Amino acid sequence: MPANITLPRILRIGAGASAELVATLRELGYARPFVVTDPFMVACGFCERITAPLAAAGIDWGIFDGCVPDPTTDSVAAALARLRAGDHDCLVALGGGSSLDTAKAVAVLARHGGEMRDYKVPAPVHSGLPVIAIPTTAGTGSEVTRAAVITDTGSDEKMLCMGLGLVPEAALVDFELTLSMPRRLTADTGLDSLCHAIEAYVSRRANPFTDAVALTAMGAISRHIRTACDEPDNRAAREAMMLAATQGGMAFANASVTLIHGMSRPVGAHFHVPHGLSNAMLLPEVTAWSVSGAPARYADCARAMGLAGDSDPEQLALDKLVAGLRQLTADLEVPGPREYGIDPERWTASLGVMAEQALASGSPANNPRVPGAA
Ligand code: NAD
Repeated sequence: MPANITLPRILRIGAGASAELVATLRELGYARPFVVTDPFMVACGFCERITAPLAAAGIDWGIFDGCVPDPTTDSVAAALARLRAGDHDCLVALGGGSSLDTAKAVAVLARHGGEMRDYKVPAPVHSGLPVIAIPTTAGTGSEVTRAAVITDTGSDEKMLCMGLGLVPEAALVDFELTLSMPRRLTADTGLDSLCHAIEAYVSRRANPFTDAVALTAMGAISRHIRTACDEPDNRAAREAMMLAATQGGMAFANASVTLIHGMSRPVGAHFHVPHGLSNAMLLPEVTAWSVSGAPARYADCARAMGLAGDSDPEQLALDKLVAGLRQLTADLEVPGPREYGIDPERWTASLGVMAEQALASGSPANNPRVPGAA
């Protein structure tokens, strides 16, 4: 079957890319942007870095700066109301995946109305207002994906929404915006990217395009993630992690995520574990459970990550992959659910509904070893 690849129309990548917002707006022909961001972006001055050139160029812009981590239907509604109070022809999303996903959701609701629940997988999202994405974490890859994840405020369900209408029209990928990330955020978002790359490569929907970017991304993350955590000002490590995050996004958006993300969303929604961290908690053990479904593919991952050599027999490469992932998450101090403070009784009581929500998202069906409902 031919691969079906979707990407933003414009990708500007490298130091200073975020300073090219005005040029990007002009290239695309938009004149009245609405900036969607979070309070930290305002406090740390990143927002001003984006909006000052707009003002200097005489461009009228509006702003919603109330995005919350793991955006909710309530926070999306607040952003939408602010957008509708003005007259805007595009959105500029500045921040981590939460700000990017908020902007994507607002873009769709602004054009088509309804509620986010109406756009939950498997409902397709065909079009929305144009979004220019400026990521400030090296993690989600949302700047290039056709996905948005919004938590239903009423039910605590993390709803996966997908479709062409959620692909940003342009992405300005500037690693200089990630130099401020603290260690925990660097580790969690970097491990999120690693999950994207590994899951895309072992996915039943992998294809030659996604294979290439996934292997490149996992190799870069494996080489640079510890340095990025230990030396926050290390520009080479930050640059490599940022590029890998965008490549991980390209890979999973055009292949799919699998069991790790399928299980991670309900964990995040029910226990308020940050997205990257809930993936990281699951990465080694879900990999250990899944390797038998696609041993050759997982062995490729071990080699791409420098954990196994070309001459290692397949089983040895698989053992080294699982051991390497356990070591990496230990080095980056990823806690287990109990260490994170999750009450074991509540955890056990939630397993049934979390399993149901994981399976309903469709992601586990793309895993090389597919879990059942039992
Ligand atoms: P986030 O956007 O939730 O941000 C977490 C915190 O980090 C926030 O307080 C934010 O202000 C802060 N932050 C962001 N950039 C910073 C920087 N440069 N320096 C210091 N602090 C910074 O974190 P995230 O992990 O990027 O995004 C997670 C969200 O993305 C989840 O809701 C997840 O479900 C979603 N997601 C979406 C996709 C997609 O394709 N749409 C893929 C994966 C994850």
